[in-house]
Amino acid sequence: MNIPLAVLIIEDSDDDTLLIVRELRQAGYDPRYERVETAQAMRKALEQQMWDIVVSDYVMPSFSGLDALKLMQEKGLDLPFIIVTGNITEDMAVEAMKAGAHDCVMKGKLSRLAPAVQRELRESEGRKRRRQAEEKLRQIEEQYRAVIEDMPALICRFLPDGTLTFVNEAYSRYFNKNSAELIGSNFLHFIPEHERTHVRKLYSSLTPEKPIIHYEHTVLAPDETIRWQRWIDRAIFNPHGVLIEYQSIGEDVTDLKKAEEEKLRLREQLLQAQKMEAIGQLAGGIAHDFNNILTAIMGYVHFLKASLTADKPARKYVDQILSAAERAAKLTQSLLAFSRKQIINPKPLRLNEIVEHIQKLLLRIIGEDVELSTILTGKDTGVMADAGQIEQVLMNLAANARDAMPEGGLLRIETEVIELDEAFVKMHGYGKNGRYVLMTVTDTGTGMDQGIRERIFEPFFTTKEFGRGTGLGLSIVYGIIKQHEGFINVYSEPGKGTTFKIYLPLITARTEEVQPESVSPLAGGSETILLAEDDDGVRIFTKSLLQKFGYTVVEASDGEDAIRRFREYQDRIHLLLIDVIMPKKNGKEVYDEITKVTPEMKVLFMSGYTADIIHKKGIAEEGLDFVLKPVSPTELLRKLRELLDR
Ligand code: ADP
Ligand code: MG
Repeated sequence: MNIPLAVLIIEDSDDDTLLIVRELRQAGYDPRYERVETAQAMRKALEQQMWDIVVSDYVMPSFSGLDALKLMQEKGLDLPFIIVTGNITEDMAVEAMKAGAHDCVMKGKLSRLAPAVQRELRESEGRKRRRQAEEKLRQIEEQYRAVIEDMPALICRFLPDGTLTFVNEAYSRYFNKNSAELIGSNFLHFIPEHERTHVRKLYSSLTPEKPIIHYEHTVLAPDETIRWQRWIDRAIFNPHGVLIEYQSIGEDVTDLKKAEEEKLRLREQLLQAQKMEAIGQLAGGIAHDFNNILTAIMGYVHFLKASLTADKPARKYVDQILSAAERAAKLTQSLLAFSRKQIINPKPLRLNEIVEHIQKLLLRIIGEDVELSTILTGKDTGVMADAGQIEQVLMNLAANARDAMPEGGLLRIETEVIELDEAFVKMHGYGKNGRYVLMTVTDTGTGMDQGIRERIFEPFFTTKEFGRGTGLGLSIVYGIIKQHEGFINVYSEPGKGTTFKIYLPLITARTEEVQPESVSPLAGGSETILLAEDDDGVRIFTKSLLQKFGYTVVEASDGEDAIRRFREYQDRIHLLLIDVIMPKKNGKEVYDEITKVTPEMKVLFMSGYTADIIHKKGIAEEGLDFVLKPVSPTELLRKLRELLDR
């Protein structure tokens, strides 16, 4: 069976063409051919179909073998090209072969044509396969290259001394330089100087047995920030164990590191909050019971004092007892403040005004060596706050600042209005989004280390010598801010001063001016008061106090007793003075029951308990009046008068 062969014949003679075709046929081919004799015709033929081989005359009237060869090459074709010519010199043959012809056959020796065709077809096939293999290789290489270049990881290779020999796209982008700038430079230059020796030691510790290492270091990023990178390096050795280069793959782990630190910090914060909560409960509980006891002590001492004329030597001792008891009362008050169980009296007001109002006093606290500067925002700083409490916060912070700056310094109080968004809340692990008034209190004092920083809000934590610090200042601040639904944090390092940031929720409602409260003189009365109190000490004392100031007292020792007593004396009673927490019926229940019968009945609640309880019983919400134990006789009398005269 003959082998099909598509032959393009470039020849001006028909006869010669037929000879060529016959020769091929005789050799066992089945040639399908076309004869062309101009460049134009050849181009057309090449475009129209695929050829297995080209056979060309060397000289023709309007074309030549060399031209034909060139045309074929221009088309990007690599077909076997055999010149068949009448006569050709050796030089011409060499020229043709140089130009890319595969063989020259004399027309007189046409028997050579078929073997030449056969050989060239074979070689052409080989060339084609090689080309395909090369193409495949190129594609694979291209793919690998693309993987490395497009990888978000930083990839580089460097010589044993750190000189870069390759960097990928991500690496260039990271350092904001093109690869030409980077290659030949030393990657160690990106690493802060104090870390270089360490990093060099790490990667040069690699051996053929242990050629891989993981490590982290910081770099100076193009934007001048310090960022963290994590690397895996592999050392490449030649078969003789000589180190050739390193291949490295790395990534920026700054955000990851921050997140890890953040997680740790959040955990610490949670622990801290839990600790404060527990201490608060303990302190609040003790303070409450202690208050009841103090009420009785202080009350009786007041009587004792009143019964002693000024010339009696015992007056001195009584005064001592009183002042000691007052100090004790202050202490319990502080504990209640910390445990957020103090009753606060929040009103809409402007934080800026409080700061301005208290400035003079702060100056006195910090003394002459410390300079005070206030930078107050022009925006409205409306907050729902108890002015006295916020002043207390500022005084406590100022006192600490002064203690931290024995050689003098600067205390700066700033206010601004800020918006806390989701991101802030997430990052800090506290707060709710919304608008806040931020008050920043900064000093240039000694600062503190982490160990101290973690404990400053604990009651009784102090680093000050005995007698100078109570350790209650910041716990009160903490309690007050919490109670105002705000939050506080501290930034401080030894030698770098301290900054407290206090966030209070911003309100937009109309605010009142901060005004000092007026004090009315002490007076008694002749009305009848129903006194319900289960603590014998407090009840007996209160009764004698009221009687002393002219009131008539009807006594009850628990809730039910109070109701019974009320029924008995109903028409004569002007006011109820009742403890909030009592056996059988609590104060509020007693009051509710009595007002069903006498809706106009006046009431003053007493409580040694905490804000929580008073709120829970709805007393504060309903605008009912209350006094806190230990009740000072003056306060109680004043309050009673105020109510009875209303
Ligand atoms: P006290 O002032 O009675 O020691 P505080 O609760 O006010 O109690 O403060 C607790 C501790 O916190 C202080 O003893 C001190 O170590 C540290 N501290 C508070 N404020 C500052 C400050 N501005 N600078 C440095 N340390 C401070
Ligand atoms: Mg203090």
